[in-house]
Amino acid sequence: MSKAIVIGAGIGGIAAALRLRHVGLDVEVFEAADHTGGKLSQFEMDGFRFDRGPSLFTLPGLVDELFSLFGETPAQHFRYRQIEESCRYFWEDGTRFTAAADSEQFIREASECFGVSDSRIDRYLKANQRKYDLTADLFLERSLHRWRNFMNAKTLRALLSSWRLDIHRSLHDTNANALKEPRLVQLFDRYATYNGSSPYRTPGIMSMIPHLEMMLGTYLPDGGMYDIAESLTSLAQKQGVRFHLSTKVESILISGRKAVGIRTTKDHHADIVVSNLDIHSLYTQLLPQKYAPRKSLVQERSSSAFVFYWGINRLVPELGLHNILFSEDYKQEFQDLFYSSEPIDDPTVYINITSKHVASDAPCGMENWFVMINAPRHQGQDWHTLMPNIKKNIIQKIQSNLSINMADHIIAEKYWTPLQIQEQTASHQGSLYGSSSNSRFSAFLRHPNFSKKLEGLYFCGGSVHPGGGIPLCLHSAKIVSDLIKSKTCKA
Ligand SMILES: Cc1cc2nc3c(=O)[nH]c(=O)nc-3n(C[C@H](O)[C@H](O)[C@H](O)COP(=O)(O)OP(=O)(O)OC[C@H]3O[C@@H](n4cnc5c(N)ncnc54)[C@H](O)[C@@H]3O)c2cc1C
Repeated sequence: MSKAIVIGAGIGGIAAALRLRHVGLDVEVFEAADHTGGKLSQFEMDGFRFDRGPSLFTLPGLVDELFSLFGETPAQHFRYRQIEESCRYFWEDGTRFTAAADSEQFIREASECFGVSDSRIDRYLKANQRKYDLTADLFLERSLHRWRNFMNAKTLRALLSSWRLDIHRSLHDTNANALKEPRLVQLFDRYATYNGSSPYRTPGIMSMIPHLEMMLGTYLPDGGMYDIAESLTSLAQKQGVRFHLSTKVESILISGRKAVGIRTTKDHHADIVVSNLDIHSLYTQLLPQKYAPRKSLVQERSSSAFVFYWGINRLVPELGLHNILFSEDYKQEFQDLFYSSEPIDDPTVYINITSKHVASDAPCGMENWFVMINAPRHQGQDWHTLMPNIKKNIIQKIQSNLSINMADHIIAEKYWTPLQIQEQTASHQGSLYGSSSNSRFSAFLRHPNFSKKLEGLYFCGGSVHPGGGIPLCLHSAKIVSDLIKSKTCKA
């Protein structure tokens, strides 16, 4: 049986291990941390449970599919619920809007709240759906770096309809042109942050992201987000994948023009090596410099985050599972995010509270708050010195939107800085999603899922095609296994 080694047990690495096992390979995973999941991890503090990284779960079918591959009934191993409201939004002028998951309800209530006709909102949502339908297959589900993937009727149709994709203008201009009303535009501009980009620079095709959330729904695993990593790890172990935790890979073994294994404290040989590492860390730490593809490594990184985890000694009924408190000057916020090294004083604040749905995540009468602001990537800032000011600004934001002084209610606290994200997940500069999508060429400049210089070396995870976020990492694993399958079939 051929052998595959996967470096890194982030969500992309676990999914790749499963898919390679499914095609009959003997699979071993080497992970530097003492747990699987990478950025998708959790911790407990004083009776509160927190998901450390991702909080929004879309396209659960991609996780189910991995159980189904092995003939398992997904619901017996991994349970989740659909959430009836996608997010609660707050503006400084006192506007509050709860975005319903049901699109008709969303249109009706948004029309009432923002004074925009329901037909205008409906047209906008349908245009987003068209973009998704035209391009998802080409841009998300297959390698963009194999010419034969472009030679089909679907791609031709997408190319002929490219004028509908808003590639030549920014997401903000696309939204402003379609929706006109500034608060509604800001609500839809926010989706640029789902891949760590700026709405003023990322192309309008990104308006397909709200389609995923608004039309296909948002979900919450019963045991919190970490359930995704944990249940897939158990499935992989059951199928014979061997995980080596707390085992850092030092280098990739090369023979001629082929990757032939990895080195930890000793050498491990394999026919195929799949890296789930951030591509920047991989090329700078595990491979000789001559293999580094300059074009991929100089791409602007996506934004990072500064996260507080707060145990709160009260309930706050105004908030739901996902909440956004918008900054007053959104354009300035993104200008600072990408061109300054310190977070802005009036940041947009995201608050996620899983205890609203999972009672065991906080003691009775209390809540577990995950409070995140977008932060510039790590460029040497002293985040511990910046922390008090960041916290003060967040508390001020909550005070002005909800009239609650949170300083009186925080009974447990931890925080996660861009530097810690870099150190703990090997994500260069602490970026959440690899490189940014701040240019219309970004999709083509992302690193491919295979090495052009070393046979047998493949890549999955958030820093390679098709991009960051759990669903895209799961897609990357499928693309890798499809590439390996097609190669094996030809051989
Ligand atoms: C704060 C935050 C919030 C986010 N919010 C969301 C969200 O709401 N929804 C969403 O979909 N996505 C979100 N994301 C992004 C999402 O978490 C990532 O895109 C995704 O989890 C990345 O998975 P990955 O497969 O690339 O691996 P990673 O999670 O990056 O894991 C890589 C793994 O490789 C290991 N590793 C590194 N170096 C070595 C080595 N030398 N040897 C062995 N192992 C090594 C690391 O320890 C790590 O476990 C968020 C991320 C963060 C940080």
